[in-house]
Amino acid sequence: LPENDLPSWDLSDLYLNVADPNIDADLEAAMEAALHFEKTYRGQISAGGVTAETLTSCITALESVREKEDRVHAYVSLVYAADVKTPEHGALLQRVRERLTDIGEHLLFFDLEWATVSEDQAPRLMKEAPLSTYRHYLEIIRRFAPHQLSEPEEKILEEKANTGIRAFQRLFDETINNIRFHITLDGQIKEMSEQEALALLHDPSPSTRKGAAEGLTDGLKANIPTLTFILNQVAADHASDNRLRRFSDPMAARHLSNEIKPASVTALLTSCERYYPLVQRYYRLKKRRLGLEKLYDYDRYAPPLSSEERHIPFDAAKEMILDAFHRFSPEAETIAATFFKKGWIDAASRPGKQGGAFSHGTVPGAHPYILVNYLGTPRDVMTVAHELGHGIHQTLSGKQSYFNFDTPLTLAETASVFAERLLFHRMQQHEQDPERRLNLIMEKLEEDFSTVFRQVVLCRFEQDIHRVRRDEGELSSERINQLWMKRNQEMFQDSIELTEGYRYWWSYIPHFIHSPFYTYAYAFGHLLVLSLYKKYLEEGQDFVPSYMRLLSSGGSNSPDNLLKDHMNLDITQPDFWSEGLGLLEKTVIEAEKLNERLSPKG
Ligand SMILES: [Zn+2]
Repeated sequence: LPENDLPSWDLSDLYLNVADPNIDADLEAAMEAALHFEKTYRGQISAGGVTAETLTSCITALESVREKEDRVHAYVSLVYAADVKTPEHGALLQRVRERLTDIGEHLLFFDLEWATVSEDQAPRLMKEAPLSTYRHYLEIIRRFAPHQLSEPEEKILEEKANTGIRAFQRLFDETINNIRFHITLDGQIKEMSEQEALALLHDPSPSTRKGAAEGLTDGLKANIPTLTFILNQVAADHASDNRLRRFSDPMAARHLSNEIKPASVTALLTSCERYYPLVQRYYRLKKRRLGLEKLYDYDRYAPPLSSEERHIPFDAAKEMILDAFHRFSPEAETIAATFFKKGWIDAASRPGKQGGAFSHGTVPGAHPYILVNYLGTPRDVMTVAHELGHGIHQTLSGKQSYFNFDTPLTLAETASVFAERLLFHRMQQHEQDPERRLNLIMEKLEEDFSTVFRQVVLCRFEQDIHRVRRDEGELSSERINQLWMKRNQEMFQDSIELTEGYRYWWSYIPHFIHSPFYTYAYAFGHLLVLSLYKKYLEEGQDFVPSYMRLLSSGGSNSPDNLLKDHMNLDITQPDFWSEGLGLLEKTVIEAEKLNERLSPKG
């Protein structure tokens, strides 16, 4: 049962409550600043001969409006996430977004004008001292320039998106959040949220896992016409957006915002696919370990055999995580401890609360907030460590100004995954018993697999969806199911028995709806961290200062430059990925050996 005394967050550092008059006051101030900005600078940037001085005051003014806007948006998003069921929260979010759209219309001209500054002049301007802080940000705008439409066109797209793509995204969230899954447990039917039902896939009892999977399938199936329609709309919207903006490949826009070369992503995906036999090898080991005749899809997350009580109180989780961070860096521990002390974490799982977990960076002038759905499993402890890793990253990069604050997706998971490694290392060191040690290793491997290989499957599936939607028109649920099963089968082969119900399990994954092709960034980030962690094991404390500098640099440069400058890593090398994959292979071999020792043949 969820604990009643789990902390909830205190958002009053942003606004007192949803009725706080400062929300509207800030929106008004942002609007006024935007109007002033427009009056002062419109026509000045593209006029030719703009000075670095003018450009600097222009961009700092723009940055300050954007930060003001984002503070309001962060607050209402957090309020909504904590309780999506209260209609006022959805209404407030919608109202704020509409207002921000109005404000944004007065700011749009800057990007468009800056993009017209000549190829001779722009680099010279960006080199000048006050402006060079924003060099990276300014370069990115120019990179998007060939894909930008005219100002009136951009305005129309932006305005219509609220009732277009964003409406479908919200419809998806509300559909999934409102499903009450009927799960049969010990002959009794229980009503559950998606998160609660998914958590049961980690239950030691095979019949509970089977019951949870069947209940999940039924709940999804009942909503499949809506979920199919939404995915089709997202793919169609993406296709028309790509056509209007002249992106040749469905992934091209994502690569551009990730600041990563398409060839690097291709190398990542194919390197991982070459290691699919490692996945099969692992699940064969798991089947032996659990003594099961067949390993079904819903058995993948089954915990290792063990009779011990698996519930970990939130306070114990906190102690373990802080200790693990402390051994790495007392500074990291201090930052993480602040989240607990000051009430920046919303931990309980409640009906109507958004599922999953995140750390919202808010704005550099404030601090991050963390949402988790803590049920007390070891996996939940890992999730808290993960989000605190994000929190540390966002805190450290808070010294950057707003435009240099956010990291691209490709680096966004660095600190979170690294934090998990630190916790795992601590847990492993505390474990002398070979059986429990094997359990730990297997659990970690499964996390690695779902963050690396599963994401590759998701990405390949998504590629299929966008390609086939363009070629064949609107897709039926059955067609989507078929594409989903094919990509999963490629990875598992005969190591896992995919059930009939699993055909529908693409339909609850939010990334497909909210951020097309997000998923490969997980694999990218995870394998990158395995390399970083290997470096830490080799270099010890010498590694720590440069790593913390990497985090503090936020999004002030591109990922490949940041990694080269701070960590001396070259991610553009095609064989870069085999390092991390090799570490996973070594871990699987270690697990196999431990298992043989524990259950000798004959
Ligand atoms: Zn994360």
